[in-house]
Amino acid sequence: MSKTAKDHAGLAADFNKDPERVSWHDETLWWVRAKRDKAAQGIPEWEALRETASGIKAHTLSNLSAYLEAFEKAAIANGAIVHWAADAAEHNEIVLSLLRKAKADRMMKSKSMLTEECHLNDFLKARGVETIDTDLGERIVQLLDEPPSHIVLPAIHRKKEEIGVLFHKHLDTPEGSADPQLLTHAARLNLRDVFLTRNVALTGVNFAIAETGEFVVCTNEGNADMGAHLADIHIAAMGIEKLIPKREHLGFFLRLLTRSATGQPITTYSSHFKKPRAGQELHIILVDNGRSVQLGREDFRSSLKCIRCGACMNTCPVYRRSGGHSYHTAVAGPIGSILAPNLDMEKYADLPFASTLCGSCTNVCPVKIDIHEQLYKWRQVIVKNGYSGKLKTASMKGMAFVLSKPRVFNFSGKAGRWVLKHAPFIVNNALNPWYKQRDMPEPPAESFHQWYSKNRGKRS
Ligand code: SF4
Repeated sequence: MSKTAKDHAGLAADFNKDPERVSWHDETLWWVRAKRDKAAQGIPEWEALRETASGIKAHTLSNLSAYLEAFEKAAIANGAIVHWAADAAEHNEIVLSLLRKAKADRMMKSKSMLTEECHLNDFLKARGVETIDTDLGERIVQLLDEPPSHIVLPAIHRKKEEIGVLFHKHLDTPEGSADPQLLTHAARLNLRDVFLTRNVALTGVNFAIAETGEFVVCTNEGNADMGAHLADIHIAAMGIEKLIPKREHLGFFLRLLTRSATGQPITTYSSHFKKPRAGQELHIILVDNGRSVQLGREDFRSSLKCIRCGACMNTCPVYRRSGGHSYHTAVAGPIGSILAPNLDMEKYADLPFASTLCGSCTNVCPVKIDIHEQLYKWRQVIVKNGYSGKLKTASMKGMAFVLSKPRVFNFSGKAGRWVLKHAPFIVNNALNPWYKQRDMPEPPAESFHQWYSKNRGKRS
């Protein structure tokens, strides 16, 4: 973290200044989680699906270079133009060069967390290119000039009344109207003009098939299809971990993805793209941006199995009560807290600590990533590399000293009980972060050690 930037705790405190928002954010995401449970329970072979999908991803990651080469070969044979980007900067430059070549200063883009990770919109804007996001949630946060707060539900932190005000300002909807149907209709009309007048469309990629060189884009709004079909240039940006070996493997992932994300049996549009239509250019950008480094981290490589369903966020008690922006990275929540330190360990050192390690994320993950174990492992790596806060390091050293010396431990316990009983203001004050939202406990009359010696100890 830079010295001036707020960490997760500081940003979560900002989000918590509006308790009403925190409550419905929490409740809404829990409702989505409950829908996921119902959908998962509706399929007797759910656990077998998870196991198989996890195995397919593990196999693909173990043979990634071979599958990437196979995909490239097949995609080129299909008529696509394949580009390789080592990092975000290269990805952005490739997109810009394609736009320049096409003499386009406007582009439409369907949902792509990769382009959020690469900060593509800002990059293009600074170079005079206007990008319009065509996913409704993405369009809302774009008009708000905010990043998405959730990978599946980008504007989940905003109430419909706020969106009504926003659309009144930008799309001329009636003042005071927060009717979702009316607002969606207004966005649709506005976007229709975008679809008809832009020549370049960028889409994300959910799954890319090495065997055939094709890829699949999942949306609920059909906006990726509209853009890709109407534009003369279709750019598909994908992280190199999106590969699966064969078409026959796709069904496992499609069955898991949307059930895990929103509880739907399948995404409304699961669109397959294989070759450009006559007269169209299809460009596929394969982006690394830290993925091969993560692949080389044995403890964290399985995080690359992620299919971005968002289930770990919906179930996370910390995410639900702190909001996606508190993670200050493109992919928020538990999985983001594993991916981000790989990109910049110092900047994202706070994120693996933004978890209760309850394991709920691991339980819901459709590809069985051991998310909470990896969060715990990142903590150890971060501490070993000297990126934990100075106060925390000093406190831990103090704690290690107290816990390793029985006499000091007994004395500290006694002193603590005395303070809580006779001078509670020493700990019950605004300087104590624990006390800010919780009551300190009533001090017991004696330590557990004393109680045990008196009671159970006598029996032995
Ligand atoms: S880590 Fe698992 S649960 Fe979280 S977004 Fe990825 S696939 Fe979904």
